[in-house]
Amino acid sequence: MHRGKWFLAATCNIDHPTPAAIDDFLGVDLGAVQIAADSDGQEFSGSMVNNVRYRHRKLRQNLQAIQSKSAKRHLKNHAGKEFRFAQNINHTTAKEIVEKAKRTRRGIAIEKLTGIRDVECSPCGHIEKANRPSQSKFRCQSCNYAANADFNAAQNLRSRAKDNRPIAARVRAASRLH
Ligand SMILES: [Zn+2]
Repeated sequence: MHRGKWFLAATCNIDHPTPAAIDDFLGVDLGAVQIAADSDGQEFSGSMVNNVRYRHRKLRQNLQAIQSKSAKRHLKNHAGKEFRFAQNINHTTAKEIVEKAKRTRRGIAIEKLTGIRDVECSPCGHIEKANRPSQSKFRCQSCNYAANADFNAAQNLRSRAKDNRPIAARVRAASRLH
């Protein structure tokens, strides 16, 4: 977290002695619905996490109902296990994104879009709150473009990074900070 913006701080070890020039970006939205969505349309669902979370929640409810000393002990251990599992999935997703960017010689444009920017239409640039009828849906009130909201956000990140190199510079600056 840096000045209210999220960055993926990642370093890439590349085989070439000189880094390849980057002329495009992979936009990555940290989604409200999915864990992440990229500007290629790939979604990182983390469905395994959700399923496990659901199972864990059910188990936690059962344990809470029992309220015994041994159940409390079990509850504590379980919370840690769930956290580690979620962390591992996030790490795997991050690794996958970095590998993809490396493979396709792109930079990574990642930022948590907030406020007005997540209602910006990626094809036409129209900004209106009504473009976002729900958390998962995007429909432009001007050009009628419809998409998954996270995908639209990832597209915005990609084009903003392409048009405005300072974003990439900020990503590099952020990775130096961590
Ligand atoms: Zn539009």
